[in-house]
Amino acid sequence: MSAPAAALAPPLYRRLALIGIGLIGSSIARVARRDGLAGEIVCAAKSEASRDAALKLGLVGAAYADPAAAVAGADLVILCTPVGAYAEIAAAIAPHLAPGATLSDVGSVKQAVFRAVGPHVPPGVHFIPGHPVAGTEQSGPEAGFAELFLNRWCILTPPADADAAALERLAEFWRRCGSKVEIMEAGHHDLVLAITSHVPHLIAYNIVATAADLETVTQSEVIKYSAGGFRDFTRIAASDPTMWRDVFLHNREAVLEMLGRFVEDLTALQRAIRWGDGKTLFDLFTRTRAVRRAIIDAGQEVNQPDFGRTGAAAAPE
Ligand code: NAP
Repeated sequence: MSAPAAALAPPLYRRLALIGIGLIGSSIARVARRDGLAGEIVCAAKSEASRDAALKLGLVGAAYADPAAAVAGADLVILCTPVGAYAEIAAAIAPHLAPGATLSDVGSVKQAVFRAVGPHVPPGVHFIPGHPVAGTEQSGPEAGFAELFLNRWCILTPPADADAAALERLAEFWRRCGSKVEIMEAGHHDLVLAITSHVPHLIAYNIVATAADLETVTQSEVIKYSAGGFRDFTRIAASDPTMWRDVFLHNREAVLEMLGRFVEDLTALQRAIRWGDGKTLFDLFTRTRAVRRAIIDAGQEVNQPDFGRTGAAAAPE
């Protein structure tokens, strides 16, 4: 149920067009519909199955195959597809964007969005990229939920000359989705997210692949004893392959920089193990424990043992 104050507030936008109606797009649709953030909500999606699902779930009033049809008359357009599709979509919708409309996105990388979309944005349209730092490993219109953005950060990366009123209106939209809003320069965003999200995903994909390829330990042993830590990596490594391929292809420099640091630090740990340097290991593990404490204190994680798992699934190591 929506809070009474939010339900009484007038819509922030007349017509919201979501290009892509997967986990993120459908979560925006759910919260926007629930709290009356837009007078009308429409979407575009590639497959008929997604368009049908969006209509059947009552997420949108209309679902189009052609993104250009979805953006006609919209005063807020949010790109919610994998970043690799942005350039083609931007070229297709550009002639149909209404003057004064805001064009935003939810992509996990930001400099590449300026490169892919920026050249197509017509004069009079406010281009303000964004990234809600919230998600799960699920995909598709059924996977979304209205509370996805609650107490999560949404980073907006406006160009230096962004219209202040358009920026504030978009920031208010995200606040009313439940987010805390931060304004950041796109290049800095890409570095921060490389270490907090992109490299951790790469490590998860890699460790799961390494375990799957082992000859000395069987697949069934990996699965049977996964509660020892492995299964927590498998959640991240189950994330959407298309989205994550595009993240690494479009945030190459920042990921490579952070990966270089990571490999150096891993080598130092390898050396400490080889030389029996328990102090180095103990000191580092103590410091990392404090990082988790800080994340819990900041309200970005709950303080429950084993992520709150109960019963058989919570079997300890
Ligand atoms: P998703 O669940 O896979 O949904 C993607 C949507 O985009 C689907 O509706 C898909 O349509 C549509 N689509 C793909 N290519 C298209 C095209 N060329 N034209 C029109 N529609 C197209 O993905 P998601 O997790 O919502 O991610 C969407 C964006 O959010 C990505 O840019 C990602 O970086 C960003 N993001 C994701 C997370 C996360 O945790 N998942 C968090 C923050 C930001 P069909 O279903 O018909 O193929």
